Amino acid sequence: MEIQVMKNILGENDKIADENIKLFAEKKVFVLNLMGSPGAGKTSLLEKTIAKLKDKIKIAVIEGDLFTDKDAARVEKYGVEVVQINTVGGCHLDAAMVAKVAAKLDLDALDLLIVENVGNLVCPAEFRVGEDERAVVLSITEGDDKPLKYPLIFKESAVALLNKIDLLKFCNFDLESAKSDITALNPTVKIIECSCTQEKGLDEWRDYLYKVVKEKTEA
Ligand code: MG
Ligand code: ZN
Repeated sequence: MEIQVMKNILGENDKIADENIKLFAEKKVFVLNLMGSPGAGKTSLLEKTIAKLKDKIKIAVIEGDLFTDKDAARVEKYGVEVVQINTVGGCHLDAAMVAKVAAKLDLDALDLLIVENVGNLVCPAEFRVGEDERAVVLSITEGDDKPLKYPLIFKESAVALLNKIDLLKFCNFDLESAKSDITALNPTVKIIECSCTQEKGLDEWRDYLYKVVKEKTEA
């Protein structure tokens, strides 16, 4: 019974996600679904990304958060449009929530829409929102066992960012084993080691994102 309910929910979500994909294709807006645990550094990565790319491409952000607007307030300071979705305890964003926000945005004026999902390694991966690509942020402090424990999110992401790489020397994190686990789950994934506080690996990430956005907006 429960399995059937979940199937119906995901089926309904997929329908709306497909409509979102159509709309974003028409408007030539690249949509990035940014996922990861609470505290992995999603918002810090967003700040670093927007600071450098906002003069080259037009960016808007959807901030998914359980209760607060703390992340939205941080991102807003960079002068891009930010729309807050409070899930009021809901542990992921879904396609209908993103559709509702997309209807209010000036999509014609946008190149990149970044969706910062609710901090959670589990169900955000189950709910497509109509994104072009997903990226997962895993911080060194979370432990190298996480890819195998939460495989779906790593399987479905185009990029896996190993954040807080500057803390490697303080943590029991086996970098090679984490990277080989991620690659085993997803042979085509791009793995980027980065640190938002030490400005490491961020150009590789920004260059990649800029390239995929341009491929869609100039197609
Ligand atoms: Mg955040
Ligand atoms: Zn959830």
